[in-house]
Amino acid sequence: MVERQLRARDIADERVLGAMGRVPRELFVPQELRHRAYDDAALPIGDGQTISQPYMVARICEELALRGCERVLDVGTGSGYGAAVLAELAAEVHSIERVTELAERARTTLGRAGYEGVEVHVGDGSLGLPEHAPFAAIAVGAAAPSAPVALVEQLELGGRLVVPVGRRKAQRLELVLRLAEGPAVVRSVPCRFVPLVGEGGFGP
Ligand code: SAM
Repeated sequence: MVERQLRARDIADERVLGAMGRVPRELFVPQELRHRAYDDAALPIGDGQTISQPYMVARICEELALRGCERVLDVGTGSGYGAAVLAELAAEVHSIERVTELAERARTTLGRAGYEGVEVHVGDGSLGLPEHAPFAAIAVGAAAPSAPVALVEQLELGGRLVVPVGRRKAQRLELVLRLAEGPAVVRSVPCRFVPLVGEGGFGP
């Protein structure tokens, strides 16, 4: 997976490649799909949701440019896989999921995989997690019509937000920097994610 799906494409950050190699993806997919855990694809995890494609998780992490000392917010816990990769790259990871059952399952899986330090919260992640802000980096694993204002506001100065932005069926993965003069979109690549439901997303 690391060599063929990540390095051979354009993932170059050795810390990200190392993290992707260490997290056991098979623990984060449903039992009956374990033989497909390292497929180059998103896979269903129940409740109409998916574990993201490995390349997209790596792409998001590379854009966040983490060095190991940061406090990070992961919006859309899903299986918990993205949160585990972030935990390999940063000091403190908060992850928020709107579906209680998914959040509970992800908490259990993260514990089993050795990532019990990840704090999994239940709620509308499009509003961020103000009680734990500011964050050096925020990763959003679901698509919004525009970068959610609350998430930009919860970034520290110089902080990075990676979020899929666009229509329900096609988006661009945007890297937004919070600068003194305001937020700036510095890069974007095409992508396709499930919709971010909620106030800062496509609505309830
Ligand atoms: N990164 C996850 C993983 O590795 O398994 C996959 C994320 S999945 C593609 C998107 C997740 O975002 C779903 O679990 C969905 O329930 C969640 N979601 C959608 N809208 C949300 C919101 N407003 N707040 C929190 N989670 C949300």
